[in-house]
Amino acid sequence: MKIVIIGGGPAGSTAARKLAPFYHVTLIQDKLDFDKPCGGGIKTKAFKEFDIPNKLIKHSLDHVIMKYKNTTVKVDLNGKNLSIVKRDEFDKKLRDLAQQAGAKIIYGRFKTVKNNKAIIKTDNSILNLDYDILIAADGVNSTVRKALNLPKIPATITHYARIDQYKVQTCEFFFDFDIGGEYYAWAFPHENLTHIGTVSRGNFENLCRYLNVKAKPKGYKIPTWQENIIIQKNNVYFVGDAAGQVMPLSFEGIYYAIKSADLLANCILENKNYPNEWNKRFFKEFSLMKKLEALNKTFIRGFVVKAHKLKLIQKFSVKMWLGE
Ligand SMILES: Cc1cc2nc3c(=O)[nH]c(=O)nc-3n(C[C@H](O)[C@H](O)[C@H](O)COP(=O)(O)OP(=O)(O)OC[C@H]3O[C@@H](n4cnc5c(N)ncnc54)[C@H](O)[C@@H]3O)c2cc1C
Repeated sequence: MKIVIIGGGPAGSTAARKLAPFYHVTLIQDKLDFDKPCGGGIKTKAFKEFDIPNKLIKHSLDHVIMKYKNTTVKVDLNGKNLSIVKRDEFDKKLRDLAQQAGAKIIYGRFKTVKNNKAIIKTDNSILNLDYDILIAADGVNSTVRKALNLPKIPATITHYARIDQYKVQTCEFFFDFDIGGEYYAWAFPHENLTHIGTVSRGNFENLCRYLNVKAKPKGYKIPTWQENIIIQKNNVYFVGDAAGQVMPLSFEGIYYAIKSADLLANCILENKNYPNEWNKRFFKEFSLMKKLEALNKTFIRGFVVKAHKLKLIQKFSVKMWLGE
Protein backbone atom coordinates (compact mmCIF):
# COMPACT_ATOMS: atom_id res chain seq x y z
CA MET A 1 0.00 0.00 0.00
CA LYS A 2 1.26 3.49 -0.89
CA ILE A 3 0.85 6.25 1.69
CA VAL A 4 1.69 9.87 0.88
CA ILE A 5 1.95 12.25 3.85
CA ILE A 6 1.86 16.00 3.29
CA GLY A 7 3.72 18.02 5.93
CA GLY A 8 6.82 17.06 7.90
CA GLY A 9 5.92 18.74 11.19
CA PRO A 10 5.33 16.73 14.40
CA ALA A 11 2.09 15.15 13.08
CA GLY A 12 3.33 14.11 9.63
CA SER A 13 6.71 12.82 10.82
CA THR A 14 5.15 10.79 13.63
CA ALA A 15 2.68 9.13 11.25
CA ALA A 16 5.50 8.47 8.76
CA ARG A 17 7.76 6.97 11.42
CA LYS A 18 5.07 4.59 12.64
CA LEU A 19 3.78 3.51 9.21
CA ALA A 20 7.06 3.26 7.29
CA PRO A 21 8.06 -0.22 8.56
CA PHE A 22 4.81 -1.62 7.10
CA TYR A 23 3.98 0.39 3.98
CA HIS A 24 5.56 2.39 1.19
CA VAL A 25 5.54 5.84 2.84
CA THR A 26 6.50 9.14 1.19
CA LEU A 27 6.67 12.29 3.32
CA ILE A 28 6.41 15.65 1.54
CA GLN A 29 7.83 18.71 3.29
CA ASP A 30 7.86 22.13 1.67
CA LYS A 31 10.57 23.93 3.65
CA LEU A 32 13.92 22.37 4.53
CA ASP A 33 14.60 24.19 7.81
CA PHE A 34 11.11 25.37 8.75
CA ASP A 35 11.18 27.00 12.19
CA LYS A 36 7.51 26.95 13.17
CA PRO A 37 6.52 30.05 15.16
CA CYS A 38 5.91 28.40 18.52
CA GLY A 39 6.51 28.55 22.26
CA GLY A 40 8.02 25.08 21.95
CA GLY A 41 6.39 23.90 25.20
CA ILE A 42 5.72 20.16 25.36
CA LYS A 43 4.94 17.70 28.15
CA THR A 44 8.21 16.00 29.16
CA LYS A 45 6.50 12.61 29.14
CA ALA A 46 6.21 12.88 25.32
CA PHE A 47 9.93 12.07 24.98
CA LYS A 48 9.61 8.68 26.65
CA GLU A 49 6.17 7.95 25.25
CA PHE A 50 7.30 8.45 21.64
CA ASP A 51 10.97 7.56 21.93
CA ILE A 52 12.19 11.06 21.08
CA PRO A 53 15.79 11.88 22.12
CA ASN A 54 15.99 13.89 25.36
CA LYS A 55 18.87 15.90 23.95
CA LEU A 56 16.30 17.99 22.05
CA ILE A 57 15.14 19.47 25.37
CA LYS A 58 16.48 23.02 25.75
CA HIS A 59 14.84 23.78 29.11
CA SER A 60 13.40 21.37 31.70
CA LEU A 61 10.92 23.21 33.86
CA ASP A 62 9.60 22.27 37.29
CA HIS A 63 7.37 25.31 37.78
CA VAL A 64 5.59 28.03 35.82
CA ILE A 65 4.46 31.53 36.80
CA MET A 66 0.90 32.89 36.57
CA LYS A 67 0.35 36.65 36.79
CA TYR A 68 -2.85 38.62 37.24
CA LYS A 69 -2.80 42.25 38.40
CA ASN A 70 -0.74 42.30 41.62
CA THR A 71 -0.89 38.54 42.08
CA THR A 72 2.04 36.34 41.06
CA VAL A 73 1.70 32.61 41.64
CA LYS A 74 4.46 30.04 41.29
CA VAL A 75 2.86 26.79 40.17
CA ASP A 76 4.77 23.65 41.09
CA LEU A 77 4.78 21.14 38.21
CA ASN A 78 5.54 18.19 40.47
CA GLY A 79 8.93 17.59 38.82
CA LYS A 80 10.50 18.68 35.54
CA ASN A 81 7.35 17.85 33.65
CA LEU A 82 7.38 20.66 31.08
CA SER A 83 10.06 20.93 28.40
CA ILE A 84 10.96 23.52 25.81
CA VAL A 85 12.24 22.55 22.37
CA LYS A 86 13.58 24.51 19.41
CA ARG A 87 11.11 23.77 16.66
CA ASP A 88 13.51 23.76 13.68
CA GLU A 89 15.76 21.23 15.43
CA PHE A 90 12.88 19.20 16.90
CA ASP A 91 10.96 18.91 13.62
CA LYS A 92 14.12 18.05 11.66
CA LYS A 93 14.94 15.25 14.13
CA LEU A 94 11.42 13.81 13.86
CA ARG A 95 11.80 13.77 10.06
CA ASP A 96 15.19 12.03 10.43
CA LEU A 97 13.57 9.40 12.66
CA ALA A 98 10.84 8.85 10.05
CA GLN A 99 13.52 8.44 7.38
CA GLN A 100 15.43 5.95 9.56
CA ALA A 101 12.19 3.97 9.90
CA GLY A 102 12.05 3.70 6.10
CA ALA A 103 10.02 6.72 4.95
CA LYS A 104 11.13 8.49 1.79
CA ILE A 105 11.32 12.27 2.24
CA ILE A 106 10.78 14.61 -0.69
CA TYR A 107 11.28 18.35 -0.27
CA GLY A 108 8.56 19.97 -2.34
CA ARG A 109 5.17 21.62 -2.07
CA PHE A 110 1.83 19.85 -2.34
CA LYS A 111 -0.34 21.70 -4.86
CA THR A 112 -3.48 19.61 -5.37
CA VAL A 113 -4.94 16.15 -6.01
CA LYS A 114 -5.97 14.71 -9.37
CA ASN A 115 -7.34 11.15 -9.85
CA ASN A 116 -5.79 9.78 -6.66
CA LYS A 117 -2.47 11.42 -7.42
CA ALA A 118 -0.84 14.08 -5.26
CA ILE A 119 0.67 16.84 -7.37
CA ILE A 120 3.94 18.02 -5.84
CA LYS A 121 6.10 20.89 -7.03
CA THR A 122 9.79 20.53 -6.25
CA ASP A 123 12.58 22.96 -7.16
CA ASN A 124 13.06 21.37 -10.55
CA SER A 125 10.02 19.23 -11.37
CA ILE A 126 6.33 18.46 -10.93
CA LEU A 127 5.66 15.02 -9.43
CA ASN A 128 2.42 13.02 -9.72
CA LEU A 129 2.45 10.64 -6.75
CA ASP A 130 0.07 7.68 -6.65
CA TYR A 131 -1.45 6.96 -3.28
CA ASP A 132 -3.85 4.55 -1.65
CA ILE A 133 -3.98 6.77 1.43
CA LEU A 134 -3.20 10.48 1.65
CA ILE A 135 -2.45 11.95 5.09
CA ALA A 136 -2.80 15.71 5.40
CA ALA A 137 -0.50 16.97 8.17
CA ASP A 138 0.10 20.30 6.48
CA GLY A 139 -0.85 22.60 9.33
CA VAL A 140 -3.58 25.10 10.08
CA ASN A 141 -3.71 26.51 6.52
CA SER A 142 -3.95 23.00 5.04
CA THR A 143 -3.69 23.09 1.24
CA VAL A 144 -5.10 19.56 1.17
CA ARG A 145 -8.31 20.81 2.84
CA LYS A 146 -8.53 23.52 0.16
CA ALA A 147 -7.91 21.00 -2.63
CA LEU A 148 -10.79 18.88 -1.29
CA ASN A 149 -13.09 21.90 -0.81
CA LEU A 150 -13.40 21.23 2.91
CA PRO A 151 -14.17 24.06 5.36
CA LYS A 152 -11.15 25.86 6.83
CA ILE A 153 -9.96 24.93 10.30
CA PRO A 154 -11.43 27.32 12.91
CA ALA A 155 -8.53 29.40 14.21
CA THR A 156 -7.52 32.54 16.03
CA ILE A 157 -4.62 34.84 15.19
CA THR A 158 -1.80 35.05 17.70
CA HIS A 159 0.83 37.78 17.70
CA TYR A 160 4.29 36.46 18.35
CA ALA A 161 7.91 37.66 18.59
CA ARG A 162 11.35 36.55 19.75
CA ILE A 163 13.07 39.07 22.00
CA ASP A 164 16.28 39.40 23.98
CA GLN A 165 15.35 42.27 26.30
CA TYR A 166 13.14 40.38 28.78
CA LYS A 167 14.72 37.23 30.17
CA VAL A 168 12.67 34.48 31.80
CA GLN A 169 13.82 31.39 33.68
CA THR A 170 10.55 29.57 33.11
CA CYS A 171 7.21 29.95 31.31
CA GLU A 172 5.26 33.00 32.45
CA PHE A 173 1.53 33.45 31.75
CA PHE A 174 -0.20 36.85 31.95
CA PHE A 175 -3.94 36.85 32.58
CA ASP A 176 -4.82 40.57 32.79
CA PHE A 177 -7.55 41.19 30.22
CA ASP A 178 -5.76 44.10 28.52
CA ILE A 179 -2.68 41.90 27.96
CA GLY A 180 -4.09 38.39 27.72
CA GLY A 181 -7.19 39.30 25.72
CA GLU A 182 -9.61 36.40 25.31
CA TYR A 183 -7.02 33.85 26.45
CA TYR A 184 -3.70 34.92 28.06
CA ALA A 185 -0.28 36.18 27.04
CA TRP A 186 2.90 34.21 27.54
CA ALA A 187 6.71 34.48 27.68
CA PHE A 188 8.74 31.28 27.29
CA PRO A 189 12.52 30.82 27.70
CA HIS A 190 14.44 29.90 24.54
CA GLU A 191 18.15 29.63 25.29
CA ASN A 192 19.34 33.26 25.15
CA LEU A 193 16.01 34.55 23.79
CA THR A 194 12.43 34.80 25.04
CA HIS A 195 9.46 33.94 22.84
CA ILE A 196 6.41 36.04 23.63
CA GLY A 197 2.88 35.84 22.32
CA THR A 198 -0.64 37.02 22.83
CA VAL A 199 -3.85 37.26 20.84
CA SER A 200 -4.67 40.64 19.26
CA ARG A 201 -2.19 43.25 18.07
CA GLY A 202 -3.49 45.62 20.78
CA ASN A 203 -2.89 42.98 23.48
CA PHE A 204 0.63 42.49 22.11
CA GLU A 205 1.40 46.21 22.36
CA ASN A 206 0.11 46.21 25.96
CA LEU A 207 2.26 43.18 26.74
CA CYS A 208 5.35 44.99 25.40
CA ARG A 209 4.55 48.04 27.53
CA TYR A 210 4.07 45.80 30.58
CA LEU A 211 7.40 44.02 29.98
CA ASN A 212 9.07 47.28 29.00
CA VAL A 213 10.34 45.91 25.68
CA LYS A 214 10.11 46.85 22.02
CA ALA A 215 9.13 44.14 19.55
CA LYS A 216 7.47 43.84 16.17
CA PRO A 217 5.06 40.92 16.18
CA LYS A 218 4.02 38.68 13.33
CA GLY A 219 0.53 37.21 13.23
CA TYR A 220 0.09 33.44 12.99
CA LYS A 221 -2.99 31.27 13.13
CA ILE A 222 -3.54 28.64 15.78
CA PRO A 223 -6.50 26.22 15.60
CA THR A 224 -9.40 26.68 18.00
CA TRP A 225 -10.75 23.15 18.21
CA GLN A 226 -14.47 22.52 18.04
CA GLU A 227 -16.48 19.38 17.59
CA ASN A 228 -17.48 18.15 14.13
CA ILE A 229 -14.31 19.16 12.29
CA ILE A 230 -14.03 16.79 9.32
CA ILE A 231 -10.89 14.66 9.84
CA GLN A 232 -11.45 12.05 7.14
CA LYS A 233 -12.81 12.16 3.62
CA ASN A 234 -12.68 8.78 1.86
CA ASN A 235 -8.99 7.82 1.68
CA VAL A 236 -7.73 11.23 2.87
CA TYR A 237 -7.01 11.64 6.60
CA PHE A 238 -6.31 14.90 8.44
CA VAL A 239 -4.15 15.12 11.55
CA GLY A 240 -2.56 17.72 13.85
CA ASP A 241 -3.27 21.38 13.08
CA ALA A 242 -4.75 20.34 9.71
CA ALA A 243 -7.45 18.60 11.79
CA GLY A 244 -7.71 21.37 14.42
CA GLN A 245 -6.31 19.04 17.11
CA VAL A 246 -4.92 21.71 19.45
CA MET A 247 -6.01 21.44 23.07
CA PRO A 248 -8.38 24.30 23.98
CA LEU A 249 -7.17 26.69 26.71
CA SER A 250 -3.63 25.26 27.03
CA PHE A 251 -3.05 25.63 23.25
CA GLU A 252 -0.82 22.59 23.24
CA GLY A 253 -0.56 21.50 19.65
CA ILE A 254 2.76 19.63 19.49
CA TYR A 255 1.84 16.85 21.90
CA TYR A 256 -1.66 16.38 20.51
CA ALA A 257 -0.38 16.42 16.91
CA ILE A 258 2.01 13.60 17.84
CA LYS A 259 -0.61 11.68 19.86
CA SER A 260 -3.25 12.02 17.13
CA ALA A 261 -0.79 10.97 14.42
CA ASP A 262 0.13 7.91 16.46
CA LEU A 263 -3.56 7.07 16.87
CA LEU A 264 -4.18 7.59 13.13
CA ALA A 265 -1.27 5.28 12.26
CA ASN A 266 -2.70 2.61 14.58
CA CYS A 267 -6.11 2.98 12.93
CA ILE A 268 -4.56 2.44 9.49
CA LEU A 269 -2.54 -0.55 10.72
CA GLU A 270 -5.52 -2.13 12.49
CA ASN A 271 -8.15 -1.08 9.94
CA LYS A 272 -10.12 0.94 12.51
CA ASN A 273 -12.34 3.99 11.99
CA TYR A 274 -10.10 7.02 12.70
CA PRO A 275 -12.78 9.66 13.50
CA ASN A 276 -14.50 7.23 15.91
CA GLU A 277 -11.24 6.25 17.60
CA TRP A 278 -10.12 9.89 17.90
CA ASN A 279 -13.42 10.82 19.52
CA LYS A 280 -13.25 7.85 21.89
CA ARG A 281 -9.78 8.87 23.02
CA PHE A 282 -9.91 12.69 23.00
CA PHE A 283 -13.45 14.06 22.71
CA LYS A 284 -14.21 14.25 26.46
CA GLU A 285 -10.86 15.85 27.30
CA PHE A 286 -11.08 18.44 24.51
CA SER A 287 -14.74 19.24 25.33
CA LEU A 288 -13.95 19.77 29.01
CA MET A 289 -11.04 22.07 28.17
CA LYS A 290 -13.30 23.97 25.75
CA LYS A 291 -15.71 24.62 28.64
CA LEU A 292 -12.87 25.78 30.90
CA GLU A 293 -11.63 28.00 28.06
CA ALA A 294 -15.07 29.66 27.94
CA LEU A 295 -14.91 30.26 31.72
CA ASN A 296 -11.44 31.79 31.33
CA LYS A 297 -13.01 34.44 29.10
CA THR A 298 -15.14 35.71 32.03
CA PHE A 299 -14.39 37.65 35.24
CA ILE A 300 -13.78 34.27 36.93
CA ARG A 301 -10.26 34.33 35.46
CA GLY A 302 -8.86 36.49 38.27
CA PHE A 303 -10.29 34.19 40.96
CA VAL A 304 -8.86 31.15 39.20
CA VAL A 305 -5.35 32.64 39.15
CA LYS A 306 -5.59 33.54 42.85
CA ALA A 307 -6.98 30.09 43.68
CA HIS A 308 -3.73 28.63 42.36
CA LYS A 309 -2.02 29.86 45.52
CA LEU A 310 -3.59 26.75 47.07
CA LYS A 311 -1.42 23.65 46.59
CA LEU A 312 -4.53 21.52 46.12
CA ILE A 313 -5.69 23.61 43.14
CA GLN A 314 -2.16 23.60 41.69
CA LYS A 315 -2.05 19.81 41.92
CA PHE A 316 -5.45 19.49 40.26
CA SER A 317 -4.52 21.82 37.34
CA VAL A 318 -1.11 20.23 36.80
CA LYS A 319 -2.69 16.76 36.78
CA MET A 320 -5.20 17.92 34.15
CA TRP A 321 -2.61 19.77 32.07
CA LEU A 322 0.46 17.56 32.22
CA GLY A 323 -1.03 14.34 33.52
CA GLU A 324 1.51 14.39 36.39
C1 LIG B 1 2.63 31.52 18.13
C2 LIG B 1 2.37 30.06 18.41
C3 LIG B 1 2.87 29.49 19.58
C4 LIG B 1 2.63 28.14 19.85
N1 LIG B 1 3.17 27.59 20.99
C5 LIG B 1 2.97 26.28 21.26
C6 LIG B 1 3.58 25.67 22.40
O1 LIG B 1 4.32 26.28 23.15
N2 LIG B 1 3.33 24.34 22.61
C7 LIG B 1 2.54 23.61 21.78
O2 LIG B 1 2.34 22.41 22.04
N3 LIG B 1 1.98 24.16 20.68
C8 LIG B 1 2.19 25.46 20.39
N4 LIG B 1 1.66 26.01 19.25
C9 LIG B 1 0.90 25.12 18.34
C10 LIG B 1 1.86 24.21 17.57
O3 LIG B 1 2.85 24.99 16.94
C11 LIG B 1 1.10 23.40 16.50
O4 LIG B 1 -0.10 22.93 17.05
C12 LIG B 1 1.94 22.21 16.01
O5 LIG B 1 3.07 22.69 15.34
C13 LIG B 1 1.11 21.31 15.08
O6 LIG B 1 1.93 20.38 14.43
P1 LIG B 1 1.54 19.85 12.96
O7 LIG B 1 2.56 18.86 12.59
O8 LIG B 1 0.12 19.48 12.94
O9 LIG B 1 1.63 21.16 12.04
P2 LIG B 1 2.86 22.09 11.70
O10 LIG B 1 3.83 22.12 12.81
O11 LIG B 1 2.29 23.37 11.22
O12 LIG B 1 3.58 21.34 10.49
C14 LIG B 1 3.06 21.36 9.20
C15 LIG B 1 4.21 21.16 8.25
O13 LIG B 1 3.70 21.05 6.92
C16 LIG B 1 4.49 21.82 6.05
N5 LIG B 1 3.60 22.21 4.95
C17 LIG B 1 2.58 23.09 4.98
N6 LIG B 1 1.98 23.17 3.79
C18 LIG B 1 2.63 22.30 2.98
C19 LIG B 1 2.47 21.93 1.61
N7 LIG B 1 1.51 22.46 0.83
N8 LIG B 1 3.32 21.02 1.08
C20 LIG B 1 4.30 20.46 1.85
N9 LIG B 1 4.50 20.78 3.14
C21 LIG B 1 3.66 21.68 3.70
C22 LIG B 1 4.99 22.98 6.89
O14 LIG B 1 6.20 23.53 6.39
C23 LIG B 1 5.19 22.32 8.25
O15 LIG B 1 6.50 21.82 8.41
C24 LIG B 1 1.88 27.35 18.95
C25 LIG B 1 1.39 27.93 17.77
C26 LIG B 1 1.64 29.27 17.50
C27 LIG B 1 1.12 29.86 16.21
